[in-house]
Amino acid sequence: PSDAIVLLGKGGLDEWVLSKDGSPATWPVTDGVATVDKKVGGIKTKRSFTNYQLHIEWRIPEGITGSGQARGNSGVFLASTGAGDMGYELQVLDSYNNKTYVNGQAASIYKQTPPLVNAMRPPGQWQVYDVIWTAPTFNTDGSLKTPAYVTALHNNVLVQNHFQLRGHTPYIGLPKYTAHGPAPIMLQAHGDPSPPISFRNIWVRPLQ
Ligand code: MG
Repeated sequence: PSDAIVLLGKGGLDEWVLSKDGSPATWPVTDGVATVDKKVGGIKTKRSFTNYQLHIEWRIPEGITGSGQARGNSGVFLASTGAGDMGYELQVLDSYNNKTYVNGQAASIYKQTPPLVNAMRPPGQWQVYDVIWTAPTFNTDGSLKTPAYVTALHNNVLVQNHFQLRGHTPYIGLPKYTAHGPAPIMLQAHGDPSPPISFRNIWVRPLQ
């Protein structure tokens, strides 16, 4: 679309920095395909966003190893609101033939809700997420005014239909909201030992 901001295309990772220190994103890129570097950690956008439409493509490598959460784990943080994995994660995982807890599979809002259906393609094929993100809003005293909502399609199949988030998506503990403003989008480098996944063709359209 003409109003889209390209976040990953032929220009490589110009729009991204390392989450840990804001230095240039050094994940390897070949022909517009960026592959996670688990040693340097996650990457986040230089720009911050509020409400938006996001298109993102990702690929589990053929011959992926591991099981459960240790098989191609990554994630799209729809807003990265603090250090590490603070924020709201749309899970990325190999869920083609890989059992795990329901709200930890691909296209789940991590630890909050599973996808409506498993739309996963096999390893080696490109997967597509199209996401509409409505950021939460906060009162001046920091209390929640309106919650976050997410609608998402996985490979053109509706998997999240205006789901109302209960807060951030921690690995341990209950979700809660902490006031924040516009925030970067982050791609997770998960510490599991399975081979790294790749991303390509990422664009975003800010919305009112
Ligand atoms: Mg993850």
